[in-house]
Amino acid sequence: MKISFYNLCSLLFFFEVVVYAQDPFLEIRPFAQPSFEQFSSRNHVDHHYPSSNIQDGFFLRFDGKEFDNDVIFPDCLSGSSCYDGHAGTDYYMPLNTPILAPAGGYVLWAAFSPPADPCPGGIEPNGDQGTIIVAHGNGYFSCYLHMNPPLNVSVGETVITGDTLGFNGNSGCALNAHLHFEVRKENWYFDTNEPWAINPFGWWGETTDPIEQVRGNRSEWLWVSNELVDDGDNGFQRYYGPDWTYLNTGYQDDSWRVPAVYSVDNSRHYAIWVPTLDVEGEYDIQVFLPENPNAATSAKYEIIVQNEDGTNSKSIIIVDQSLGLGSFSTITTLNLPKGSKSSVILRDHVSTTSVGEYVLFDAIKFVNTNLDIAKEKPIPKSFKIFKPFPNPFNPSISFHYEIFISSDIKIDIYNISGEKIDSYYLQKIHPGLHKFNWIAQSASGNSIPSGIYFFTFESSDYVHSEKLIFIK
Ligand SMILES: [Zn+2]
Repeated sequence: MKISFYNLCSLLFFFEVVVYAQDPFLEIRPFAQPSFEQFSSRNHVDHHYPSSNIQDGFFLRFDGKEFDNDVIFPDCLSGSSCYDGHAGTDYYMPLNTPILAPAGGYVLWAAFSPPADPCPGGIEPNGDQGTIIVAHGNGYFSCYLHMNPPLNVSVGETVITGDTLGFNGNSGCALNAHLHFEVRKENWYFDTNEPWAINPFGWWGETTDPIEQVRGNRSEWLWVSNELVDDGDNGFQRYYGPDWTYLNTGYQDDSWRVPAVYSVDNSRHYAIWVPTLDVEGEYDIQVFLPENPNAATSAKYEIIVQNEDGTNSKSIIIVDQSLGLGSFSTITTLNLPKGSKSSVILRDHVSTTSVGEYVLFDAIKFVNTNLDIAKEKPIPKSFKIFKPFPNPFNPSISFHYEIFISSDIKIDIYNISGEKIDSYYLQKIHPGLHKFNWIAQSASGNSIPSGIYFFTFESSDYVHSEKLIFIK
């Protein structure tokens, strides 16, 4: 199976899950039912100089916003996401949240070693730093810092999307539990003068990305999304602010709300939507506005389009969010390039004439105006496969899958040496939700040893593979 970084790249964090991938373990954690959490990111990549050892008092964020005041953590203004000389993105989350591989790759580094000396911001190091680096085989390397022991992978191991790499912590140069997630391109080495870091959330400032000027590596949005981007999707990123409120209304019954502010200096909350568009063309940009009588009457949607030369063009559309009736409405029509080269950024900062206490964050849809109604209908994916459960397992494991078109299915189970040990051929499975259950034994009914197994789920146009851990 060919694994592309782009189509598998979804950064997922399981909350309170435990997955053991190798033997022996330093610590056994109790198994808990996984639930997905999306953590907002708090500190960004400093595009101006992404080097933790050299600070120059100037910070440049993904959206081109500049800070030159109190730019070293922890003195930065709450929610402003400044951090001079930062090469990654920080996600604050409870200690020991499992960190999953965002894409398949090879574990290049997994160890506890002395952190940067001195630590950025002059903080005291908290022991050796747990660091994992995964090479994705396409020029990109993802790095995970401040991990807690035990690391769940070791050097030389191959991981697939969703494997638990380890658990977040506060080891090394960290004051509290968080994940420092960093992406490097072309070289994994941390060069303090000309860092290899890029920003996986792209560069949306108006000038050329300064990181590109240093190395020639352009910061790109690496998460594949859809034409419809809702909160929680790969194309959506919510950034830290102290006053996010989750609402049970809106598209798919969820949305977010923050207090509207009138001064840029007080702006703390912002989010970005990045669609992946199949074709270049004219698009209606439609925002979903949940019913909310207290919504801002002049919310500012910034629509940014990346040009070939690395510069970006921006249009600002003022939207009366109080007119929302629980539906999508077109706010503008623009020519957009193919791929993930356009974005919408919405902030808590509203026009001075705005009335209404809150800015609302919900789904945004990009509708190609040249496509006819028939083409506009979503083409159903032939499958949806849910995570096998429980994993690790003994003696049986099961997973649900949903089929949208009647199909034959082949399921094979392999051991770690690649030998097929069991196989199922299911004919003409009807559309709907189905469950597959497997008991750990060979096709002939013999018992099998503890360890790692793989199953592949295959139809005429789809292959999915998953790692299983059998513990006796
Ligand atoms: Zn960090």
